[in-house]
Amino acid sequence: MLLLAHTGITLGAATLLAGAAEIKNKSGNGILTWFASLSEYVDVRILIIGSMLPDLIDKPVGVFLFRDTFSNGRIFSHTLLFLVVLAGAGYYLYRRRRKTWLLVLAFGTFMHLLLDSIWNTPRTLFWPFLGFTFDRINVEDWLSFWFWDLFVYPDLFIPEVIGLAILLSFVFALFYRKKVGVFFRYGKS
Ligand SMILES: [Zn+2]
Repeated sequence: MLLLAHTGITLGAATLLAGAAEIKNKSGNGILTWFASLSEYVDVRILIIGSMLPDLIDKPVGVFLFRDTFSNGRIFSHTLLFLVVLAGAGYYLYRRRRKTWLLVLAFGTFMHLLLDSIWNTPRTLFWPFLGFTFDRINVEDWLSFWFWDLFVYPDLFIPEVIGLAILLSFVFALFYRKKVGVFFRYGKS
C-alpha cells in the first residue's frame, strides 16, 4: 500500500476509536468533533509519521543504501519484533512519564503492517524465527512499478482513494474549525 492509504486509513481508524470513546462519554456529535477528540488522545502529526514509519526506515535502507545486501523495501521495521519492541517501549514511557508519542508511533506501525498485508510474507513478519535473512525481490524501478500498478490493480487503487477522501475531510475539518496553525504547531485538530 502507498502513502495516501497508509496515512489516510490510519487517521480514519484512530478517529473512529476516538469517536467511539466520545460516544461512550456521550459528548460526541459528528465526524468534525471526532477529529477534534482524536487530538485529545494523540499528536496527530506523530500518528501520520507512525503510519509511514516502517517505510521511512526500510525503504531507504533496503532499497537505496544497502540494496546489494537486502534488495527489499520491507525488512526490520516490517517485523512483529519491531512492533513489539516499539509498543513495549511506548508502554513503559507512558507508565513512567505519561508520554504517549511512542505508543502512537507503535499504533501507526501496527496499522502499517496491517495495510501492507504483511502476513503474506511470514518470513518478514516473524523474522528472525523463520530464518535470519529476508527474501530478496526485484527493487529496480521500484517507484515507477508501483505507480503503474496503481492504475491496473483496483486493490491498490481503491485504498488510495479511501485514504485520500479521509485526508481531505481531515483538512476540511482543520480549515472549518480554523485549526490549521494549531495543527502544525502542536498536532491538535
Ligand atoms: Zn510498508
